[in-house]
Amino acid sequence: MSAPVSGGREGSLDAPTRHPLDWKNPAFYDEAALEKELTRVFDICHGCRRCFSLCNSFPTLFDAVDGSSTGELDGVDRKVYWEVVDHCYLCDMCFMTKCPYVPPHPWNVDFPHLMLRAKAVHARKEGIGFRNKLLASTDAVGAIAGIPVVVEVVNAVNASTVGRKLLDATLGVHPEAPIPKYYANTARKRLKELVGTTAQAGGHDSLVRSEAAAGAANVPLAATGSAPVVARTDAPRPPTPAASGVGQPPAKETAAQKLARLDAAAAADAARESGEGLRHAASAAAPNLVATPRKETAAEKLARLEAMASGMESVSASPPESALGSTPRASGAATSNSAAAGRAITGRVALFTTCYGNRNEPDLDVDLVKVFQHNGIEVRLVAKEECCGMPKLELGDLESVARHKDANIPQLMKVIRDGYDIVAPIPSCVLMFKQELPLMFPDDADVRTVQSRIFDPFEYLMLRHRAGLLKTDFKQSLGKVSYHVPCHLRVQNIGLKTRDVLKLVPDTTVDVIERCSGHNGTYAVKKEFRAASVKIGRPVMTRVENAQPAYYTSDCPMAGHQIESGMKDAKPPTHPLKLLRIAYGL
Ligand code: SF4
Ligand code: SF4
Repeated sequence: MSAPVSGGREGSLDAPTRHPLDWKNPAFYDEAALEKELTRVFDICHGCRRCFSLCNSFPTLFDAVDGSSTGELDGVDRKVYWEVVDHCYLCDMCFMTKCPYVPPHPWNVDFPHLMLRAKAVHARKEGIGFRNKLLASTDAVGAIAGIPVVVEVVNAVNASTVGRKLLDATLGVHPEAPIPKYYANTARKRLKELVGTTAQAGGHDSLVRSEAAAGAANVPLAATGSAPVVARTDAPRPPTPAASGVGQPPAKETAAQKLARLDAAAAADAARESGEGLRHAASAAAPNLVATPRKETAAEKLARLEAMASGMESVSASPPESALGSTPRASGAATSNSAAAGRAITGRVALFTTCYGNRNEPDLDVDLVKVFQHNGIEVRLVAKEECCGMPKLELGDLESVARHKDANIPQLMKVIRDGYDIVAPIPSCVLMFKQELPLMFPDDADVRTVQSRIFDPFEYLMLRHRAGLLKTDFKQSLGKVSYHVPCHLRVQNIGLKTRDVLKLVPDTTVDVIERCSGHNGTYAVKKEFRAASVKIGRPVMTRVENAQPAYYTSDCPMAGHQIESGMKDAKPPTHPLKLLRIAYGL
């Protein structure tokens, strides 16, 4: 085996960093350069083999090497390279939990990004095909399938043996793969009356004040990056006391708000004195996707202390609290999620319902709203939303990802300017805004602002809990819960917040399962990958079966159904938000 890179040492002791995806550079699509890079990295992986159990990409590669005439990579047919690429569903687990050769190690291995580049090259050259296009068009398909009357036909066909055979024959959807039901009465329809949209909610005069005070009325809020409170005098507003969910700004400024406003003004002054406008301050605070995490500035420290003083919670930049083995490393995610460090929450959230939540499991969004409202958090719907783009990303269709981003980011910026944080109930969609878009658009200040203001729902609830603002008036225990942690939540690097919240419920034990369910976007439904997906998920399914829990659950509803599909006579999964609603008796 040829030495892949000379001068490298075994493993890295430095904090991992993540380079932005250089997808706008024509060289990114150079096929010869791609093949050279695939060969270089595959050779490193062949020598390492730590990732053999994560997915089917690595076994495909290693089996091909071991079965080749030379026993080395040079004996492997190049078409195997594309099989390795096809088996990768971009879960990021190899980068986040295993690889000692990620940057700044000189070997510079970013396996998921290399797979994404290969998918993008393939998509540009060959197109993505009708089936992939259809399966990834979650919003368009959902809009058609969700039309009243049509929805009954679609659901009936999808539930019938004949219909599944048809799907198999026409789209290559495996007959036993779980496929979602569609609803005409979407989450957005159900919730519009209950909570309204952000278009119906006025902005906050305190925001206007803070922008004016900073002399930067037309710049993005300094919620951007890791110094979010510089211009967020709205941020420390205590939660709406009533659980109605339709809160009004308090008539009189509280002591905490006053403290926050003064501190924000001081922070803005500090930024000005340092010779930087807010935009510069914000971009300096935003994640440096290449460099290692930098030191906290004086302004950021002030902002953090101010947030703490006003009874709010800052997200710690320290490692996550996962009690179990192969959790993502803190500094690895910090390279892409460092904007999250030090951020504070407002107690007012705009809900990005997601395509799946909106049309396939509307209860998911309703449960989130009920639980948040119970905890005095004002909730509104983001006025308009499109697919986050994750299904397109997984196909390497980066231009479509950019189109979704162009539609969503202005909407999300609007809600942030109006003083809302953002939550979404699907981990993959949150990850899209927290990590993938910032890596694709590292110079886009708005993308970085959204990155710093979007939260996993349980991450948000735990922040409330740490600030003493989460209700624990539970009416019902949950007993034994088997909890599966989806990969796209693990790589958010926030620790096991769902477990932590569920454990607050009396007489409840949570068995945490940190393994891939095998669902992974459309991977589990495609007939050529179905067997591999079940094999990947089998340890999770077996663990749940053996535990015989009162409930089994996953933050990813699709992963929950994948687990269900691999168990005999299994009852359906219960989403953690539903569990919390049950526990509260809502
Ligand atoms: S990103 Fe996930 S699916 Fe892709 S190679 Fe790494 S572990 Fe496997
Ligand atoms: S991605 Fe890294 S840890 Fe995984 S097999 Fe390759 S070199 Fe080893």
